[in-house]
Amino acid sequence: MTTRFVIRFDDVTPGMAWSKFAPFDALAQELNIPYLIGLVPDCRDPALSVEPHRADFWNFVRERVARGWTVAQHGHTHHYVTAERGLLGIGKKSEFAGLPFAEQKEMLATGKDILVREGVWQPVFMAPSHSFDENTLKALDDLGFESLTDGYGFYPYKIRGLLAVPQLFSKPIGFGFGVETVCLHVNTLSVAQIDRQVSTLRARRGSIISFPEALKVVAPVPLIAPIVRVASEVALKTFRSLRG
Ligand SMILES: [Zn+2]
Repeated sequence: MTTRFVIRFDDVTPGMAWSKFAPFDALAQELNIPYLIGLVPDCRDPALSVEPHRADFWNFVRERVARGWTVAQHGHTHHYVTAERGLLGIGKKSEFAGLPFAEQKEMLATGKDILVREGVWQPVFMAPSHSFDENTLKALDDLGFESLTDGYGFYPYKIRGLLAVPQLFSKPIGFGFGVETVCLHVNTLSVAQIDRQVSTLRARRGSIISFPEALKVVAPVPLIAPIVRVASEVALKTFRSLRG
């Protein structure tokens, strides 16, 4: 038994740090790695525009999708409007959690329309700052989303109408079972960190799977999945509160 990894990139926008993403893109091409990328449909978060905007952005995405990458809708504008932690209790900021259902649905639908128009929408959601609430999940379900990348544990789990693949760490740990989603934000990685991550991904290539493949990972023993989910939630929440 071995751990399988999904490699997820958040904050994919026309003005992202393309110079830092380039080594990962080259690696994906060389080793045929199917990344999961979180696209902000209409980015209004100035913190995510760090390099000159790429004019061929949508073509770039379409080419990667044709090679097997998965697109997740990463919110709508990535503009944080509430201080809600959401159902997972992680960050103290949200684009969605705490807003009325109709408002959330409208934002999600507008974002989806943009991705559909560009021919890259897939029924996958990635919440900015990992923050969403019951209304977000209901709106996503109504709009035809089927899965999300977030949550505790090491096996896909049902959350309302959606199937979630857990996301816990920013580097591959490898507990020897289940699936781990490695969450990378290239805008804030240093050159040394990028070098290390690229070497790690190269060494772990045999264990990296696509997001659709991760959705099909099941626990060998039925009760294992909920037990490790609760254990990882308690452990991570304790760790975060100790760290302040
Ligand atoms: Zn983000």
